[in-house]
Amino acid sequence: MKKNLVIGAGFSGAVIAYLLAEKLNEQVLVIDKKNHIAGNCYDYRDKNGIMIHKYGSHIFHTSNEKVWNFIKEFGDFNQYMHKVIAVIDGIETTIPFNFSTIYDVFPKTLAKRLEEKLLEKFEYNKKIPILEFLKQDDEDLKFLAEYVYEKVFLHYTAKQWGVNPESVDGAVTARVPVYLSKDNRYFQDKYQGIPLEGYTKLVEKMLTHPNIKLKLNTDYATVKNPEKEFDRIFYTGAIDEYFNYEFGELPYRSVNFKFEEYDREFYQSNSVVNYPCNYDFTRIHEYKHYLNDKSPRTVIAKEYSEFFERGKNERYYPIPKDENTELYNKYSEKAKELNNVFFLGRLGDYKYYDMDKAILRAIEVFETIKGESS
Ligand code: UDP
Repeated sequence: MKKNLVIGAGFSGAVIAYLLAEKLNEQVLVIDKKNHIAGNCYDYRDKNGIMIHKYGSHIFHTSNEKVWNFIKEFGDFNQYMHKVIAVIDGIETTIPFNFSTIYDVFPKTLAKRLEEKLLEKFEYNKKIPILEFLKQDDEDLKFLAEYVYEKVFLHYTAKQWGVNPESVDGAVTARVPVYLSKDNRYFQDKYQGIPLEGYTKLVEKMLTHPNIKLKLNTDYATVKNPEKEFDRIFYTGAIDEYFNYEFGELPYRSVNFKFEEYDREFYQSNSVVNYPCNYDFTRIHEYKHYLNDKSPRTVIAKEYSEFFERGKNERYYPIPKDENTELYNKYSEKAKELNNVFFLGRLGDYKYYDMDKAILRAIEVFETIKGESS
């Protein structure tokens, strides 16, 4: 029976561990330096019975049938479709900026004119990244584009990434495009929802298998002779750390959540409220909205973005940027020289994966291995 070591008990690690154990009937040891499973998707019910997402809101969404068919085997999901409220100049509206937003923030006659011009110029339902949307000839549309740039993206991106929107990879701001639609949802994926028993439970179900052994509070550095002891190693930690930062450190953004508890039923009208123009935090999460948890009290978290510093905080977001990709490529070239060591996950691949993409990547890594071993 082959022996595998999986470093990291987040989604990537749990998916690969489960597939090796279940489909190939191999032995798997999963280790994690944290004292809990599920990585940054970790959630728990607090004393008020509210499901808290310790590392910020996680909303599952995918259009990938393979991922959906896989994940739903581990628990039922509700039909929550995420909406984000943004406070722009004191007005509550929805993000992505869309036709409803135009009518929320502008007087009716101006909103109508902008709507007509947009419909003349673009196809209905089109999604336009802000940096592309800025390129307008028409004076009214130029005004609109600059308004959205400043009120939605400029200050939020400065808070989140420490730079202006032009200095982050276009794919980052394109995650929240201007949407020529009345669809107020944050995602348009076919499948969306929150697991009824939480993300931790989903991951726990993947890891509860006779062929899988789990060790928490265990750093990879403490494993003796891993290459000799195991047939394969799956590393979902930071790839630069694996190679002892030989070429330099890959930068990350981190997040600091300041939790507050209130003796009232609700703090805000929505699970997430963005503050793109005000305050130092980017957004406020109120967790009880996700599973409709009933409690006379509520818990919120204010999200402050900061640089990742080793030993001080956690890695959350790889920073997509040419120079960082070049540095990552050096590590990934070196990784190719290793036999039977596989890197995956946000930190292993240094990619801004959503949960579904991390799961898909783990399934694909497994499929390559399965192909080779059959
Ligand atoms: N963004 C913004 N204003 C907003 C929401 C998003 O400028 O109100 C930009 C910002 O640069 C952010 C990116 O769009 O980092 C992606 O946002 P998303 O909500 O997808 O980020 P995540 O939920 O992964 O933190």
